Amino acid sequence: MSESSLRVVWVYPDLLSTYGDRGNALVVERRARQRHLNVTRIDVRSDQAVPTSGDIYLIGGGEDRPQRLAAERLRNDSGLVRAAENGAIIFAVCAGYQILGHEFINDLGEREPGLGLLDVWTARGEGARCVGDVLADVDPRLGLPQLTGFENHQGVTHLGQGVQPLATVTAGRGNGTGDGTEGAWRDTVFGTYLHGPVMARNPAVADMLIKLALDVNALPPADTTWYDALRAERIAATSRPA
Ligand code: GLN
Repeated sequence: MSESSLRVVWVYPDLLSTYGDRGNALVVERRARQRHLNVTRIDVRSDQAVPTSGDIYLIGGGEDRPQRLAAERLRNDSGLVRAAENGAIIFAVCAGYQILGHEFINDLGEREPGLGLLDVWTARGEGARCVGDVLADVDPRLGLPQLTGFENHQGVTHLGQGVQPLATVTAGRGNGTGDGTEGAWRDTVFGTYLHGPVMARNPAVADMLIKLALDVNALPPADTTWYDALRAERIAATSRPA
């Protein structure tokens, strides 16, 4: 972390912020402030350079065309790749997750290169879109409670040897490959299909990113009353038989 302040970079709010993904930036900021940390949030529009000095980078989801435009710009800009090389923490949702991989199918039906920051690649699902609420058990090494979120994607993401699944679904489709995996991670780079926004439904994820940025194992406790109410409501609704 930089000396004075935790720098949270929200990448391309103008292209990638569907289904309330903006909330992820707000929640990370809020969870850090609850611990009396100084936070600087930097919103980087797609016509601006991505700074390399951030601590935590957040990328949201998007429709197919904005996703292609975002991938093009991020490849040309290279700021996010350089930040990753410097060990920055990156958390990406849905379209953002697909962009972090080697390739995805764009709105023109063509193979579009991603950034190769996660060893995953995304094909176009032949069946129905994956839409609905998700529950998933997280890789135990990350020490997180059950994830709740909302997915809406056509892409189906395959994982290579260089990543681990972020979680295993108990409801919903996740990566859409039929093997129950959801998302992917390695080191400090994470991808998930979960909107919601995922940090509002799972503040422990925001706390994990802050702990990684500070290089600490624990944070002072902070109130989670409203998050807990939302979690309980969504988990109950998703667990109920249809
Ligand atoms: N356009 C991508 C897909 O449909 C990602 C969608 C999203 O970000 N919600 O797979």
